[in-house]
Amino acid sequence: MNKYSIIGPPGAGKSTQATLLAKAHGLVRISAGDIFRWNIENHTKLGAKIQRYIDSGRLVPDAIVAEVMKTRLEQHDWNFGFVLDGYPASQSQAEFFLESYDLDGVILLEVADALLTERLSRFRICEACGFDPNLIYAQPRSDAVCELCGAALVSRSSESPGAIEERLREFHTKTVPVIDLLRQRELVVKLDGTKPTSEIHDLVRAALGLTSEAMAQRLRSSLMAQ
Ligand SMILES: [Zn+2]
Repeated sequence: MNKYSIIGPPGAGKSTQATLLAKAHGLVRISAGDIFRWNIENHTKLGAKIQRYIDSGRLVPDAIVAEVMKTRLEQHDWNFGFVLDGYPASQSQAEFFLESYDLDGVILLEVADALLTERLSRFRICEACGFDPNLIYAQPRSDAVCELCGAALVSRSSESPGAIEERLREFHTKTVPVIDLLRQRELVVKLDGTKPTSEIHDLVRAALGLTSEAMAQRLRSSLMAQ
């Protein structure tokens, strides 16, 4: 069983790397944000609740995040393991998660705040069909028009200058202490999130011992230890 987590500040490329890692190794990518979005789009009770937090500019409380993640993990559709996308993001999320599950490795994608601010302010989404070019391209071809339906691309409300600042502040105050906690368990590998997507993907796999070279190296060192 492979249980991994990819964490880092907003805009560091967590979802991209979690998606690539999950695809490469038959793992299930689990993102609380995706579950939130699904609930909002499908007008569920939970979706309405989450929408109220977003509208008032507040973060979704840990209790709701915990409940959503618990329910998701209990589906047990992850035969080969899972990749958590941006979770745990706070001390209480980490404590809650580690009560029931363990992690085999955590990747921390590091990108400087100034670069994140610039990256996030460039993010665009289609106002008509919801297409998100950033999920597919590191550098979208057009930052004005949706290539699927031709409608205008707009910046997301979560990426207004004030919102970006708030999200970065949340990361530093809430998530950085979690990284220290996970580091004490020797789980965290830091990677430079400014490198090209495919290079980071290779580094992630190597760091988690998922490449044949990494496996060979582990075998060699375990033989030497005998
Ligand atoms: Zn569109």
